[in-house]
Amino acid sequence: EAKAAGGGRWTLLDEEVRTRARRALRLVADLREALARGGVEVHYQPVVQPGRPARLRSVEALCRWTHPELGPVRPDVFIELAERANLVPALDAHVLQVACHDLAAWRAAQAAGDLPVSPDHVAVNVSAVSLAADGFAAGVRRAVATAGLQLSDLCLEVTETALASDLRACRQVLEELRADGVRVAIDDFGTGYSSLAYLKDLPVDHLKVDRSFVRDLRSTTGPARAVAAAVVSLARTLGLGVVAEGVETFEQDAVITDLGCEAVQGYLYSRPLTRQGLVEVLRGGGELVPGPATPSLKGV
Ligand code: C2E
Ligand code: MG
Ligand code: MG
Ligand code: MG
Repeated sequence: EAKAAGGGRWTLLDEEVRTRARRALRLVADLREALARGGVEVHYQPVVQPGRPARLRSVEALCRWTHPELGPVRPDVFIELAERANLVPALDAHVLQVACHDLAAWRAAQAAGDLPVSPDHVAVNVSAVSLAADGFAAGVRRAVATAGLQLSDLCLEVTETALASDLRACRQVLEELRADGVRVAIDDFGTGYSSLAYLKDLPVDHLKVDRSFVRDLRSTTGPARAVAAAVVSLARTLGLGVVAEGVETFEQDAVITDLGCEAVQGYLYSRPLTRQGLVEVLRGGGELVPGPATPSLKGV
């Protein structure tokens, strides 16, 4: 029976592989076009100082792409495609420019009395390939200067994996920018390969504790709390700031706050917002009332 089905199965699998490959190629072409036409949007997730209400401190810029036929495509999906098609430097540069432009606009609105507050800084995610590309530092300086901002208005979020892959080159770029005021955060901290030994030598300002560590925080005791506590205290010892990612519940928030984590980012306080959505928050003085996370709209 299995033998009889064998031939047909292979053909079917083949067909599936080809369909998937074709779809990926198509997505890459569509993404390239979207990037060229400014069709990739930037949303902003507040990073807050916890409390009731919490107060918005800064924002993280997150790219969003809505495919004309498929609808919203999840960033991890299209970033992986973009990586394979060498589109990531263009994507990161686009997000950087938009983020700088928007922060400058919020600052201007605040100066004009139209907004009571504006974010302290904006964080953008930077892939290893972007960081290692020629002219990255120059591009950052240009984007910041064009918007009329300072380098200290910007934070670059890099993953441990990015730092590990091309450590020397990445380090040099980060050190140079950081010397002129750019902040640097290690994103998804704890999920990569960084050994604690070299953490002390990295040119970084804060750690973003990956949400996989936050997810299991249910009580004020137990192994999950022990791990989170160790990360926070490590950061403290090294003089680094700590941001907890992915805080969704009051319980997680309580544990994280109790550990002395000074900044929190997660659905409990706010999902990533459109530019307009963020402006509403700024209008309200940057106050965010925590509430249980509602299910998100699922992307492709
Ligand atoms: P990330 O930098 O770690 O960003 C945080 C991700 O966690 C975001 O997913 C955010 O929506 C999600 N998140 C925030 N709070 C919660 C929460 O409470 N619960 C859960 N379940 N998720 C939460 P998003 O926007 O889908 O982005 C995924 C990843 O894609 C980012 O992870 C980042 O690594 C990458 N990415 C996003 N934008 C860019 C970009 O412009 N350039 C590059 N190179 N990578 C980007
Ligand atoms: Mg990030
Ligand atoms: Mg992260
Ligand atoms: Mg991530």
